[in-house]
Amino acid sequence: NKVIVLYKRPVGKAELGDFKTNIEEMPTADDGEVLLKTIYVSVDPYLRGRMNDAESYIPPFELNKPLQSGIIAEVVDSNNTLFKIGDFVLGNLEWKEYQVSDGKGLRIIPNDPAYLTAYLGVLGMTGLTAYLGLTQIGLPKPGETLVVSGAAGAVGSIVGQVGKLLGCRVVGITGSDEKVQLLKSKFHFDEAINYKNTVDLTRSINAACPNGVDIYFDNVGGKISDDVLNNINKHARIPLCGAISLYNDATPVLGPYIQPVLVKKSALIQGFIVSDFAAQFPEATRQLTEWLMAGKLTYHETIYKGFDHIPQAFMGLFEGSNEGKMVVKI
Ligand code: NDP
Repeated sequence: NKVIVLYKRPVGKAELGDFKTNIEEMPTADDGEVLLKTIYVSVDPYLRGRMNDAESYIPPFELNKPLQSGIIAEVVDSNNTLFKIGDFVLGNLEWKEYQVSDGKGLRIIPNDPAYLTAYLGVLGMTGLTAYLGLTQIGLPKPGETLVVSGAAGAVGSIVGQVGKLLGCRVVGITGSDEKVQLLKSKFHFDEAINYKNTVDLTRSINAACPNGVDIYFDNVGGKISDDVLNNINKHARIPLCGAISLYNDATPVLGPYIQPVLVKKSALIQGFIVSDFAAQFPEATRQLTEWLMAGKLTYHETIYKGFDHIPQAFMGLFEGSNEGKMVVKI
């Protein structure tokens, strides 16, 4: 039974040598336990923070212990009356091919192959983050301009589509010309900008947003965000969802550097973690499911194959290797 542990704490970008695969004995389910076979593993940018030995809203990973993330698994043996063999479950589980669980925190999900991975993305943590961050903090109104960074990723691609459904003009910022095309063709963004081949991003955003920026959904932080904030309107709302451009920095950066703009524009900048909105999860899930089933919302995935490729998939998030949700199929 293969297990991936955190072998060294990454310095800067994570490297393959920071992870190690161990072989353990095959576990068996005791009374009250289930034996789970890992089917799909979610890799997410926030895991990078857990690899540092630093206090955060979740405890750091321990060295030489398995990493964890959102996982879809199949129940292959059960001594727990709540689960039967063949059930598919979603949980925050360990990077192991097989593992036992007492069932706490596991949720049975429909075994519909067409939508299985959606529970790691649009109908899971990333979809809820997109929908609730935008609606609860961004407070979008029809006709307003919404700018999204990290736009072609798991969260960003849902934010943009929800913005369109709520009547906004939506502009995405992303890291390649292919992703610019994807944003316009598949996700119906009005405009998209490749930040990697733009000389003056502040001006490009200005050109793409003739009426200024009312809402900036920030997934990346750093210089890109400063360039967006240079274009905000009076009373702009800025849901601060993530700062992936800074997660590998060894020393904390200061900023944003454009505080005078935030003052002048009476802007609201609010950080959040999705669990802040736990009370709204059922309603948000209902809305996302309704849009998905009605064909109003779509999603995209990048699927790496093989248990051994979980670290590469994780590292790929920091290279822009994914379009939509990054998932590993075991
Ligand atoms: P994504 O699917 O968006 O994957 C990460 C993407 O970030 C990459 O594909 C890449 O796209 C972009 N990126 C990587 N490095 C940089 C960089 N230096 N500068 C700019 N862009 C970069 O991940 P998620 O959708 O899962 O997460 C997006 C953000 O949301 C993250 O910051 C994450 O931490 C945050 N998040 C926050 C949650 C919360 O509760 N607050 C919950 C879930 C996610 P590109 O090619 O465009 O550069």
